[in-house]
Amino acid sequence: MGATGAGRFAPSPSGELHLGNLRTALLAWLFARTSGRRFLLRIEDLDDRSRPHHERRQIEDLAAIGLDFDGPAVRQSERRAAYTDAVDSLRRRDLVYPCFCTRQEIRDAPRAPHAPPGAYPGTCRNLSAATQARRCRDKPPAWRLRTDGGEQGYDDALLGHVAGVLDDFVLLRGDGVPAYNLAVVVDDGQMGIDQVVRGDDLASSTPRQRHLAELLGYAVPEYAHVPLALNAAGARLAKRDGAVTLSQLVGDGIGGEMVLGVLAQSLGLAEPGEAVSLAQLASRFDPARLPRQPWVVQPAELFGAQGRLGGLCAEHPGGFVEHLDG
Ligand code: GLU
Repeated sequence: MGATGAGRFAPSPSGELHLGNLRTALLAWLFARTSGRRFLLRIEDLDDRSRPHHERRQIEDLAAIGLDFDGPAVRQSERRAAYTDAVDSLRRRDLVYPCFCTRQEIRDAPRAPHAPPGAYPGTCRNLSAATQARRCRDKPPAWRLRTDGGEQGYDDALLGHVAGVLDDFVLLRGDGVPAYNLAVVVDDGQMGIDQVVRGDDLASSTPRQRHLAELLGYAVPEYAHVPLALNAAGARLAKRDGAVTLSQLVGDGIGGEMVLGVLAQSLGLAEPGEAVSLAQLASRFDPARLPRQPWVVQPAELFGAQGRLGGLCAEHPGGFVEHLDG
């Protein structure tokens, strides 16, 4: 840990960042900077919903709350060769096999009683070379990692011990696009990332990513999965909830500094209405004291006294939601 390591924020440019994404970015920055690490930005733009204007906007919004990054952003779309090389190296070790299953077939397949939900049942695992060749002619396969299905638990800085069971997960999709788990592991490994801070919806991907990092010979990072932001109804926060992205808030007279103050307050690092700098937040930051519950976002209450959102209170009723489902 320390001078040579790095943390990162890795948004997918498929929309605007909302307050929950900005809070995760702030936490990733705080974890990295307070442990002497570099902080890197990676644009996860392999998805066909990615758009350059979302990427530009996301970078502007991160700057508006003051977050700085070391070096230029790394773009996954420019790194396809690195992902293919990784799969080739696994293929040479017979750790990769083609899979012809449809989603429906995977859902309907019988599976072991304790298999985790969504785990691949192994249907194409032991096809003969002749069958593989014949079926490859009909349909381009996805390529899966051959695992032993074993346990792969890990210790998370915020979640404690997370149990996990491996399955044969996809590395390359049938359309040739590298899968999220492959790209993240290759990037984290090659970018020298030794600390991963991200939303806790990704905690269940971590056993797979750790296993793949080990196979590819990368040092396995440490992990902190942070609670998500929810709307007043207890669903994951989304742009359509209104007054939750910087562009929506700017229209209500609320700028980056106020947003930083509200994010800091939600983390127990600032008083309501207090103007804070990142340096102050860094000096107050203590991972052990971070809230472990989802953050319920009610913009009218958060910004009501500061912007023109006060009048929205009546439109955003809702109670406190303690738990996140799923
Ligand atoms: N690109 C992912 C997202 O925006 C985050 C991936 C990661 O941090 O590993 O949810």
